[in-house]
Amino acid sequence: MNDFSSSTCFELVSEALEDIEALHDELQGIDEDKHASHRVVDIARQLVAFKSVTPDDVGCQLWLAQELRTLGFSIKHLPVRDVSNLVASIGNNSDARFAFLGHTDVVPAGSTQDWQFNPFKLTEHNGCLFARGIADMKGAIAAFFCAIEALVTDFGVPEKELWLLLTSDEEGEAEHGTKRIAHFLKQQRIAFDFTLVGEPSSEAHVADTLKVGRRGALSFTVNLHGKSGHVAYPQKATNAIHLAQNIMQALLSKDWPKHCDNFDSTTLQFTHVNSGDFVDNIIPSQCQLNFNIRYTPAYDEYELVELVRETIEEHTLNYALTTSNPCQPYYCLNNDEIPSPSLAIVCDEINSQCHFTPKLSTAGGTSDGRFIAEISTSVLELGLVNKTIHQVNEHTKTSDLIQLQQLYYGIYKRLLYPTLHVHSTAQDELLQLR
Ligand SMILES: [Zn+2]
Repeated sequence: MNDFSSSTCFELVSEALEDIEALHDELQGIDEDKHASHRVVDIARQLVAFKSVTPDDVGCQLWLAQELRTLGFSIKHLPVRDVSNLVASIGNNSDARFAFLGHTDVVPAGSTQDWQFNPFKLTEHNGCLFARGIADMKGAIAAFFCAIEALVTDFGVPEKELWLLLTSDEEGEAEHGTKRIAHFLKQQRIAFDFTLVGEPSSEAHVADTLKVGRRGALSFTVNLHGKSGHVAYPQKATNAIHLAQNIMQALLSKDWPKHCDNFDSTTLQFTHVNSGDFVDNIIPSQCQLNFNIRYTPAYDEYELVELVRETIEEHTLNYALTTSNPCQPYYCLNNDEIPSPSLAIVCDEINSQCHFTPKLSTAGGTSDGRFIAEISTSVLELGLVNKTIHQVNEHTKTSDLIQLQQLYYGIYKRLLYPTLHVHSTAQDELLQLR
């Protein structure tokens, strides 16, 4: 027999369900609170609150400099026109120097009513953090800062030198940012053994992909000179457009033989053809070609120009060639595909913390890494997932941000405190013997 009426039974079940829901909310709340009170989330919250739309830094670097000073960093601000640049360093032993490169500028948020939350107020929702720049790349700056703060707290001043390089000009012109920082450092004869770039390199989850290099880029302008004449007497003229067409065909069908593993092949794209004003009975005497070559590290700039010249000179000697916007390629692996020691450290750290091996990629356009590559033996990009960057509702998983901080901690611990690492390896061996 049952003492309860069906309605009482229904009420009891409803109450029980409400209790479970409340408990679930409470647990979720505890979980979110745990993340919300996490130091890296707090620093990210402070960083995204600065509306630092490129190139206007609105005090973001000044605030960070203050925090870095308390950790013992020396600070140098390098403003150029409307761009803010920050160079900070810690540690005294210059026999090994490591760097972290990043940018405090963000792309505009666009129409804020399209956003689920205020783009300049970090909002945690369903285990994700939403804000403009959280993934590209203030989250990575927060992760780096907290990693170094924890290292300095745990082990004191680093045994090796660590440099933090930040600009507010990565998303914009990129003329007065990292390029100027690299120039300044070159003048000071400062070079790095390894630079980690905090750009969002990951695809599905944090650290699944490392950017180990980028193709180089070079723009060409070629002015071809023909001979004008009446269209009815082509034998008495040299049509510059026809000449251009033959040269374009030759350049497009060119096989760029030098292959480089992990890189898309070398490619050439025409961007503009111009023979000036025309009259429909005159054969044109001038034609200008513009094209851009994206090339693997198997080539150098000089070699490319020579190959282009050779191709043109099979058709004419009457031309002028100029190049512009050079971007050097860079690559973390040498020609025998042997990883640099730093790449090995990064991969090993990812392996031991995340239990997978990251994919090595060189895809994408140019990055600020190219400027630092000139003064750094190797350059590597490791950051958050890039799925929502530059979009409305840009976000990252909170757990990814915390994981990134732990990875930076592990990587810089190995780089900056090598004796500690040797010591702990020896300890590990001792433990295994017991
Ligand atoms: Zn970026």
